[in-house]
Amino acid sequence: MSQRPYNFSAGPAALPEEVLHQAAAEMLDWHGSGMGVMEMSHRGREFMSIAEAAEADLRELLAVPANFRILFMQGGGLAENAIVPMNLSRGEQADFVITGSWSQKSAKEALRYCDAKVIASNAEGGHLTMPDPAGWALRPGARYVHVCTNETIHGVEFQALPDLKALGSDAALVIDCSSHILSRTIDWSKVGLAFAGAQKNIGPAGVTIVIVREDLLGHALAICPSAFDYKTVADNASMYNTPPTYGIYIAGLVFQWVKRQGGVAEMERRAVEKAELLYGYLDGEGAGCYVNRIDPACRSRMNVPFQLRDESRNEAFLAGAKARGLLQLKGHKSVGGMRASIYNAMPLAGVQALVAYLREFANAPL
Ligand code: PMP
Repeated sequence: MSQRPYNFSAGPAALPEEVLHQAAAEMLDWHGSGMGVMEMSHRGREFMSIAEAAEADLRELLAVPANFRILFMQGGGLAENAIVPMNLSRGEQADFVITGSWSQKSAKEALRYCDAKVIASNAEGGHLTMPDPAGWALRPGARYVHVCTNETIHGVEFQALPDLKALGSDAALVIDCSSHILSRTIDWSKVGLAFAGAQKNIGPAGVTIVIVREDLLGHALAICPSAFDYKTVADNASMYNTPPTYGIYIAGLVFQWVKRQGGVAEMERRAVEKAELLYGYLDGEGAGCYVNRIDPACRSRMNVPFQLRDESRNEAFLAGAKARGLLQLKGHKSVGGMRASIYNAMPLAGVQALVAYLREFANAPL
C-alpha cells in the first residue's frame, strides 16, 4: 500500500486504509450482486445482511447487553442533543455536567424540551480538569444525567464512568461518546443511553449510533418527530425511514477491521501507547517549545490540544507539518493552537512521525 499522509483531523477523521481499499474494490459490485451498496434497497436481502452484521459486530465489540437496543440514526451529536430530551426527559428534570463545548451545547439545547440544569462544571479555569462526581449537585427528580465522556475540542476525557447509583441517584446516565467510542470498554451497568456520531472512530459523517436500555423506550414527548422516537426506530430495526445505508456499510467494515486488530481491548492498548508517546514528549523534552495545560489525570487519549509557547510560529509549524505529510493539526478556533486527534485509525507510526516533527521544529534555529 502507498504511504498516505497522516491525517490528524478531529472529524470527519481518517479511516483505516484497509477499509478504504475494500470499499473501493466493492464500489461498483458488492459481492457479485451487480450493485454498489449505495444503489441497493435498504429492505433488500443484500443490505439487510450488511446492516445485521454491522449491528452484531458492534454489539460484540462493545459487549452490549441484550437489554440494550442498538439504533443507527441520522442527525449527528447535535440532533441527539434534542432527541435525547425529547425521548427521555418526559418534560421533567435533566441534569448536565459541563466539561467543554459539546456538553455546553447539549445543556443549552435540552432547555427547549425540559427543565435542564447544570449541576457541575469545569468551566472555571478553562475546562482543564474534570468535576469530581462526589461534588455533583444531582437532583433527586432528574430523569437523566448527561455527560460528554470525551470533549473533542478541550481534550478532556472521563477515565471512568460516574456511578450514579453509588451517588444516590436513580437517574439514567446519558453519555455522548462521539469522539472515543470503540477506544475503550463501556461499563453498561452504569449507562442508560450512549450516543456517538460516526465520523471519528466509526465511519463517514451521517450515521449516529444510539445504544439505549430498553426500559427507556416509549416515553417520547408528543412533539417528538416519529423518525426520532427511539421506540419507533427500535421497533423498525432502524429502518423506519431510509437509513444512511452507505455509512452503515462503511461502519460495518470498520467494525470488522477493529475485530481483526484484536477488538476494543487492543484499540485501548494502542490508544494508551500513542497518547503516552505524545504527552510524554510534550511534557518532557518538548516542554520548552510546547504546552498542554490539561490536568494529566483528565487528558484525552483521542484529542490532544497543545500550544506553541511562541504563537507567532503557528503558521510556520503548520506549513512544515503539511510538507512532511502531517495534516489537519490546526486547533479548534475556540481554543487556538494545535490539536492532534489520534483516533483508532491513526497508527503508532503516525504519532512517531508527529513527535519526530515536533522535535525537529523545536530544535530548528529561529
Ligand atoms: N459531541 C461531540 C463529543 C463531538 O465531538 C461532536 C462533533 N465534533 C458533536 C457532539 C456534534 O456532532 P455533529 O456535528 O455530528 O452533530
